[in-house]
Amino acid sequence: MKNPLGIHALVWTGTWERKDIDFAIGSSSKLGFDIIEIPLLNPYNFDATYSRKVLEKNQIQAVTSLGLSEDTDISSDDPEKRKNGAKLLSKALEMTFQLGSKYMGGVLYSALRKYHAPPTKNAFQYSSDIIRDLCHKAKKMGIKIGLEPVNRYESNLINTASKALEFIELTECENLCVHLDSYHMNIEESNYRESILQCGRKLGYFHIGENHRGYLGKGHINFGEIFSAMKDINYQGPLTFESFSSSVVEPQLSNTLGVWRNLWDDSSNLAKKAKSYLDSQT
Ligand code: MN
Repeated sequence: MKNPLGIHALVWTGTWERKDIDFAIGSSSKLGFDIIEIPLLNPYNFDATYSRKVLEKNQIQAVTSLGLSEDTDISSDDPEKRKNGAKLLSKALEMTFQLGSKYMGGVLYSALRKYHAPPTKNAFQYSSDIIRDLCHKAKKMGIKIGLEPVNRYESNLINTASKALEFIELTECENLCVHLDSYHMNIEESNYRESILQCGRKLGYFHIGENHRGYLGKGHINFGEIFSAMKDINYQGPLTFESFSSSVVEPQLSNTLGVWRNLWDDSSNLAKKAKSYLDSQT
């Protein structure tokens, strides 16, 4: 497989000051990754200009990702929260464009949090209407939007590939795709192969993560099955390594994701091993 290989910036740093930008982008490029995924933790305060300069210097592409919060939940019954969410997504899209990036994904469709009830009657429709507007803006910028199904403890709206496909069908935007993640699939899908085949050409982005989100190849995810299914649908999109440890922390996101354990403390070693694992398996 010749898919572009990516790495999540949180392998390197939990903040995005100039020194972090130099370190995260420089280190990813040095190891031969094609892409760095930059989480837009706060799109209203994001140094896109400097980031772009460093990306260009290091000859590496960026993609962006984010998850909404309770106050910006576009699936909420509260119109004020939906309005805030739409505004945040627009700002994030603008930052993605300023970075020169062609992809923005994540939990863009609801809050990234544990819900204590199933989605309300209109949640799916509310979210779809706002994502449709976002996709129209993104299309003019040449940007693709990805919906990442996450496990039941991180959203109540889209937990599986088939739900993401249902959302895409309702939204009717050609630049909207499914962004799968092996860590979440391990919890929610019946099997990896069927879900990947079901997405087919709608699969646009993929997070490679172990069941414990630590060292790749040290957990029990069946990556052989995943890569073989990707070959069968001729998936040519990015494969981005995602891993979290309490040794590199962005407090809000780490708490939301339940990153309590120190699964690694040497970013360089983790990244190097992930790169050679992906090179050998794909
Ligand atoms: Mn993910």
